[in-house]
Amino acid sequence: MGAMPRASPRLVLTPRGELRVRGGHPWVYRADVSRLDGTWRAEEPVTVSDPAGRGLGRGFYNPRPQIVCRLLTRHDEPVDLAFFRRRIEAAWRFRQTLAYAGDAVRVVASEGDGLPGLIVDRYADRAVLQAQTLGIEHHAPSLAGLVAEVTGVRAVYRRTDPTAAAIEGLTSEAGWLIGDGAAIGSTLAAAPSGPAGESANPPARAATPVEVEIREGACGFRVAIETGQKTGFYLDQRENREAVARLARGRTVLDAFAYTGAFGCHALRAEAQHVLALEASAEACAAARAHAALNGVADRFEALSANAFDVLRDLERTGRRFDLVVLDPPPFTRRRTAVEAALRGYKEVNLRALRCLRAGGILATFSCSHHVGPALFEGVCRAAAQDVGRPVRLLGTLGQARDHPVLLTVPETRYLTGLLLEVLE
Ligand code: SAH
Repeated sequence: MGAMPRASPRLVLTPRGELRVRGGHPWVYRADVSRLDGTWRAEEPVTVSDPAGRGLGRGFYNPRPQIVCRLLTRHDEPVDLAFFRRRIEAAWRFRQTLAYAGDAVRVVASEGDGLPGLIVDRYADRAVLQAQTLGIEHHAPSLAGLVAEVTGVRAVYRRTDPTAAAIEGLTSEAGWLIGDGAAIGSTLAAAPSGPAGESANPPARAATPVEVEIREGACGFRVAIETGQKTGFYLDQRENREAVARLARGRTVLDAFAYTGAFGCHALRAEAQHVLALEASAEACAAARAHAALNGVADRFEALSANAFDVLRDLERTGRRFDLVVLDPPPFTRRRTAVEAALRGYKEVNLRALRCLRAGGILATFSCSHHVGPALFEGVCRAAAQDVGRPVRLLGTLGQARDHPVLLTVPETRYLTGLLLEVLE
């Protein structure tokens, strides 16, 4: 990442492309490019300009995806190590203002931090980095160095996002960019009621994936940063787990699509009566049981490795009812064209969940697809409530954790929507 060469390649936009970029959106679609002057290289930012040749900013170029360039800056400034350091420092400063209790946080949230294509999650003394564009992938080793310097983590692991890899043509392997997780001894505090003598960092890397013990408010979790989903943990639900925990006392809870049981553990630490977790992945299900033990709530926790859709149908039929249901399914669509089908799916699963609630019961329900945002999702839940034929009160609307900031001019950055619904009768 040296100094900018004098004549950097120039991406000239169509009027429509200019309109989008001037409107605050950092993405340039292939169809918005009128021409590319010069020779592009993945690691070298191109200058983006309007049809008249006025500069609009800089970003990495990749001809393969639909989105060929994401602006990193709107200024005429070098995109070099110093640039990335400033951005990462700003991102880290912002995280300090969130005053989270715990040691796990999304440090860099791509567009939300002015670093499109870069995701960085901190898990205690490690970080996981995900490059989602070819340009960022090229600079991943230096970016990992900056992350370590700025945040003080001792090791940085690179995860690959298979979706981004396919779209962008990424080829890098997962692995440690900085430090070696397996060689780092555990310096992590034990969870308050965790079983004694269990190491959070198994020494044999090949045999046992690295687990990092994190704290999130009242709970401790072990994050499998090499093998877990995404970067290992769903940090985006942090505030929502708190919100659910505040309502959980004395309630029987169904945690559908539970992953490693984080919602359930928080609910139980907040004195929920019992949690039944449903999770399709057997590994995640086992991790959920381990998390219940780690947090001292195993006696009130039950996890079923099962298809939540089937179990919800069975529960509806057998008449087992709950006081609180958490519904956090994977995105039903990643594509705009499949929204109709997704809406049907959301309606059906929410209908089932509402039917499994006792009078006074609460449903915390989520959509993690930006295509199904607050308005559509509320419409779907309204339709489900109408079909159920019971009065449903909206207790609150939920969104993604504050360390996943939303850019007003980039609607795609708002991807997690939640509703807290109470069935009155
Ligand atoms: N609530 C979790 C995150 C859930 S992510 C947390 O706070 O950590 C969605 C989860 O649903 C994933 O773990 C995925 O394995 C699981 N899943 C996907 N399809 C499923 C199905 N049909 N039945 C049960 N679980 C499913």
